[in-house]
Amino acid sequence: MDQVLGQVLRNAVWERLDMLTDLANRADAQSLVSVARSELPRLTEAWRAMLKMHEPDERGDCPTCSTRWHRCKAPCSVWQVAHEHLVAGGLAPQQQSADNRLQGRRKNPVTAHPAPPTSAETTGRHALVNPRRAVTA
Ligand SMILES: [Zn+2]
Repeated sequence: MDQVLGQVLRNAVWERLDMLTDLANRADAQSLVSVARSELPRLTEAWRAMLKMHEPDERGDCPTCSTRWHRCKAPCSVWQVAHEHLVAGGLAPQQQSADNRLQGRRKNPVTAHPAPPTSAETTGRHALVNPRRAVTA
């Protein structure tokens, strides 16, 4: 059941992101301003909440991506993606075709990142997907 709910949650988030991308590409200027005012603060808050969970601990490891047996040095993949998309790529956003986006999604939700956090995702270490497991792991 957890898996089903997790899938429903992930699909809802993907659909929301698709909707926002679609709006950015197709909405008229007035609608865009309105959407930007309501959605940009939500997106920045989401990034802040996610990045807070991946702040390095006193040893310089990411507490969310690390396991008991494997320490993940900061900056972890979440911070690397944040920097890549918010800072490095922020001034020159790249257009992706819908095909590329969907292909990338099947392999890895973070399409442009060279080191996908797949093991972390399958073990539920990313608390946004399954917070209960992150606590017990
Ligand atoms: Zn992390």
